[in-house]
Amino acid sequence: MSAARTIRCENCNASFEVQGLPEEVTCTYCGHAQRVDPALLEELRSYSENVHDQVAVAKRERDHAAAWHKTTDQMAGKRMIWTYVMAFGLMGGLPMLCVMGGLLLLRSGILPQDKVYYINFGAMGATAVGVIIYFAWYFTIGRRKKQTQVAGATVTCPSCGAPNALQAGQAVEACRHCGAAILPSHDAQSQVMDRARAEARRARLERYRAERRGMAAIYRSAIGGTKLVYFIGGSLLLPLGGGTFFFTIGMLTGSEEYSPAIFLMWAMTLAVIGTMAGVILWQRSRRSMLRRGLDALCAQYRGRILGGLQGTVAWLDEHWAGPYDVHDLTKGSYNDSAALDVQGCPVLVEIDPVPAAKQIRPRALVLLACELPGSGDAMETTLQLSPEARGLLEQIKRTGFNVETSEGGLLARADGLMVKRIVSDEHALAGWADVMPLLARLARSMCYEPD
Ligand SMILES: [Zn+2]
Ligand SMILES: [Zn+2]
Repeated sequence: MSAARTIRCENCNASFEVQGLPEEVTCTYCGHAQRVDPALLEELRSYSENVHDQVAVAKRERDHAAAWHKTTDQMAGKRMIWTYVMAFGLMGGLPMLCVMGGLLLLRSGILPQDKVYYINFGAMGATAVGVIIYFAWYFTIGRRKKQTQVAGATVTCPSCGAPNALQAGQAVEACRHCGAAILPSHDAQSQVMDRARAEARRARLERYRAERRGMAAIYRSAIGGTKLVYFIGGSLLLPLGGGTFFFTIGMLTGSEEYSPAIFLMWAMTLAVIGTMAGVILWQRSRRSMLRRGLDALCAQYRGRILGGLQGTVAWLDEHWAGPYDVHDLTKGSYNDSAALDVQGCPVLVEIDPVPAAKQIRPRALVLLACELPGSGDAMETTLQLSPEARGLLEQIKRTGFNVETSEGGLLARADGLMVKRIVSDEHALAGWADVMPLLARLARSMCYEPD
């Protein structure tokens, strides 16, 4: 617990109560008026502002995260089923109960025959109540938003020694024991500022996570990638194959007249089946070729297969304390991923070399999670590279990767040529083993504190 600062009277040396941060204060004991040191005022004001800025950032990030959580939760099947149950139960069940109750009352004579329209009103009212309850429930779907909290500092009063709690960002407070003005010490200020920054960072990481899960859920539900061949083939095969089958049966049993067109129908049906089988086998062999490449990397770097998008998102949640472009969360036919351990650093290899849609860039990435000093919002400007790091960057670039840096660590993105090569050359992906130690060395050479 650090001692607080205070404002003392220049005349009688008492410390007295001060409201807010005025430029001039009057001693409550002797009435002496004096100016407050402008440098002190400036320091306290900027402390207060900075803390409030960080808290505002944290709140905004939590709001975004909550919106993403809601999307993900609403898309999740479990919630969807409940949505229908609630909708049917409330909007259909309530009016039905009302009508049944009304009919019972009518039969037992409590409701007179000429007042039968009461039942209509009752049912309409019940529908309205059902709709209101349903929407009230629907808008509460999603987990509760985490509150932004920054603990303040506990300081001792310089006048009487009593401990006092200063709220985060609060520049002046009256001692709860003697009433003297209490100003946060430098220690207390930097302590609170650190906490506020940490809170903003936690909130930002939560937003990244929520965003990744939401986008992954959206891309997963899209038709594309491996599902596409079944989707197109199936929609062709169902009418064509079905028609061919029934005409053949009809002709065999004599209920349809024979036509040589049936052979053409069979030929078309078999062609569709053959094409589908060919595409599926072709995709399968390519997938297993890429998987062999990942297996080779895993064998060398104590890795394990993650198997694509879902595993990727889980790895990012666990190891990647930084932003990740959500456009890199698509799932094409050959999406696959593996987690490696390169000289103690968690590494992710993520490939989606043939994207599900034209507008998506093909990708092949290596992420090395590490904490880079000076990384953060103004990363690009603060990070000065040593000659060694610059040399390594060049070397990595020559092997076909462009390296990006962020709070999360290093992200090496294979260039277009390299992405093409891993789908055509059996040994290309296994060859990435040589890039791994370069990346680990780069991370280490970046981990120096610029003085
Ligand atoms: Zn005084
Ligand atoms: Zn006191």
